[in-house]
Amino acid sequence: MLVEMRKDATPEEINGVVQKAKSLGLDTQLNLGTDKTVVALLGSNTGQLPTDIFALLPGVESVARIMKPYKLSSREFKPQDSVVSINGIEIGGKHIVVMAGPCAVENEEQLMKAVRAVKKGGACIVRGGAFKPRTSPFSFQGLEKAGLELLARAKEQFNMPVVTEVVDPHDVSLVSKYADILQVGSRNMQNFALLTEIGKSKHPVLLKRGFSCTVAEWLTAADYLLAEGNSQLILCERGIRTFETSARFSLDVCSIPVIKRSSHLPLIVDPSHAAGHYALVPAIAKAAIAAGADGLLIEVHPNPKEALIDGLQSLTPSDFARLMKELRPVAKSVGRYI
Ligand code: PEP
Ligand code: MN
Repeated sequence: MLVEMRKDATPEEINGVVQKAKSLGLDTQLNLGTDKTVVALLGSNTGQLPTDIFALLPGVESVARIMKPYKLSSREFKPQDSVVSINGIEIGGKHIVVMAGPCAVENEEQLMKAVRAVKKGGACIVRGGAFKPRTSPFSFQGLEKAGLELLARAKEQFNMPVVTEVVDPHDVSLVSKYADILQVGSRNMQNFALLTEIGKSKHPVLLKRGFSCTVAEWLTAADYLLAEGNSQLILCERGIRTFETSARFSLDVCSIPVIKRSSHLPLIVDPSHAAGHYALVPAIAKAAIAAGADGLLIEVHPNPKEALIDGLQSLTPSDFARLMKELRPVAKSVGRYI
């Protein structure tokens, strides 16, 4: 931690910072600049100390942390890439894993048609929401347990693992019975009670980025899961909110190489929620693979015009099949395969 003193800080005020650090068992180093003094605080557990302890002392201008706020998800902690294996499908290796299906499970016919189409197109994991975190309480909230049961049927019929969202910590054990991967949605990325419960369950988990969260906040949220001993963790970039309104969200392509440098965790990209429109999905999906993503999460509906949720951003089965073909050479160009 670095404590920057004000220009007019007195020697007593500087000493006050040094004494406070000593009382907490920290070593200090003084950098006496021409204008101001900076006190470096040295110790193995400065990360656990609130910066305000020093920020509130007289003569202090600002306090900055040097260490990253996240630990277990960092590359410093684990230099080699983590690979998550779901029924033999490895996420985080050379294989680009595509998870696809409808936004929400609506009924048996819709789900089965969607799953048949995504399997034919080359997806290896099925997505479909049974519990939907809707912005409005008046919107369709999902089929809940009945939706999970339909997902179980699809999983059995098509022999594909399932990723589905859990929104309430009390539902973690229920959803875990049906889901191969628990999805934590963007709106719940910082629902720490939910993260802790999923962490304890040790069930594989897909942690979406909160749309107003920084990469550091996202990786710190990932630490909640890792701290409970759940290492079956996949990240999912899905776009963030910026001043731009021409797409539903702004896909932060930069976060892909940033995460790859700073974390060992596998990372997939959801181009559907970023785009908000089916016509934008293919280009965003290709950009994600080119930038180093380990997989994709794509919304596909057998009849998007009739979809109860997110029809505009859903691909038709034929759009999906075409996209999968177009993705193959992109994957190959970066040394991967689909
Ligand atoms: C979803 O994947 O169905 C979803 C709700 O996405 P997000 O949490 O990213 O908005
Ligand atoms: Mn959706």
